[in-house]
Amino acid sequence: MRVVDIRERSIDISRYRDSSILSGGLTTSIVALTTDVVRNGRPVVGYGFSSMGRFAQSGLIRERFAPRLLAAGDVDPLGAWAAMMKGEKPGGHGERCVAVGTLDMALWDAAAKVEGLPLHRLLRQRFGGDASAPADVEAYASGGYLYPDNDLLRLADEMRVLRDLGYRRVKIKIGAAPLAQDLKRIEVALKAFPEPGSVAVDAMNTCDATQGRLAAAALSPLNLMWFEDICDPLDFETQAAIAALYGKPIAAGEALFSAAEARLLDSHGGLRRDRDILVFDPVHCYGLPGYLQIIEALEVRGWSRRAFWPHGGHLFCLHVVSAFDLGGAEVNPLSFPPFGGLADGMSVAEGRVTPPDAPGIGFEGKAALAALFGTL
Ligand code: MG
Repeated sequence: MRVVDIRERSIDISRYRDSSILSGGLTTSIVALTTDVVRNGRPVVGYGFSSMGRFAQSGLIRERFAPRLLAAGDVDPLGAWAAMMKGEKPGGHGERCVAVGTLDMALWDAAAKVEGLPLHRLLRQRFGGDASAPADVEAYASGGYLYPDNDLLRLADEMRVLRDLGYRRVKIKIGAAPLAQDLKRIEVALKAFPEPGSVAVDAMNTCDATQGRLAAAALSPLNLMWFEDICDPLDFETQAAIAALYGKPIAAGEALFSAAEARLLDSHGGLRRDRDILVFDPVHCYGLPGYLQIIEALEVRGWSRRAFWPHGGHLFCLHVVSAFDLGGAEVNPLSFPPFGGLADGMSVAEGRVTPPDAPGIGFEGKAALAALFGTL
């Protein structure tokens, strides 16, 4: 497969179902990558985007990585990745990892369409997974961002909608409001999801050492699913100090992007392999090849694949969780429209979801997203 054309555009995205609520100028890149392979009389086109939370990567994609990919000749996604990374020095991951991951997503979409397979099937074939294993995975609904007004009422409404959709576990955000208000927000979530271990909280890397300690003490009795992104991602000292006094599961890794950083987290972050959760985002970690390096680096050190619950909350990550038998999938049913959540008509059965069966990632089964990619 040869990539013959690449289009990219920056798109505004919102953390809220009501996308008129501003999200600090947050953007993502969408890309369409046309190949020289023809199926049903038309060239195969792969689509991708920069996942959520780390802004569009227009300059890096257009000036650096797209030209290398266009010049690479015949490639599969792994060869394409090597071509894109040619000449890059080790370290300094910055956000070039997101630019590469965006193109990587589109490459896998195209490769699976070329084979006529849903991505999770292609990945199982390609990486020696059990082809007969069921494709469905454990999932939780993610959302619960602080509303600019009427926060608790709107949060309660959001929790009810997620419960009605069939989710049995949920993650909400804390850290953007004082701890006392965050505890009220958690109470709201616990009302809709009362089973022990059903509510996770994500502090979005906002706590300093003191705030982290206070939050950990307040959260300890609540039986949460996990406490995520506590402090600055590279502040391993605070991370380890909190882990030493918070006995329940902690989730970390969302804002780390390489196998080298993952090893540092494991060595210095105080994480416990018997209970803690790893939320590296496959798209933000240079795409699937980089993500697989992280899994390998940590499996060698005794981590289970079941500890990996990748950040993202969209269809690409759902295929990855299914194909590699990871712990479970984040789903953003309401946040980040039209990128988050499942394809149209897909449903949740007792907290489990199955990736789409259409060839590729299945973006075409999500009308609003397909229309957006169509504009490229
Ligand atoms: Mg997070």
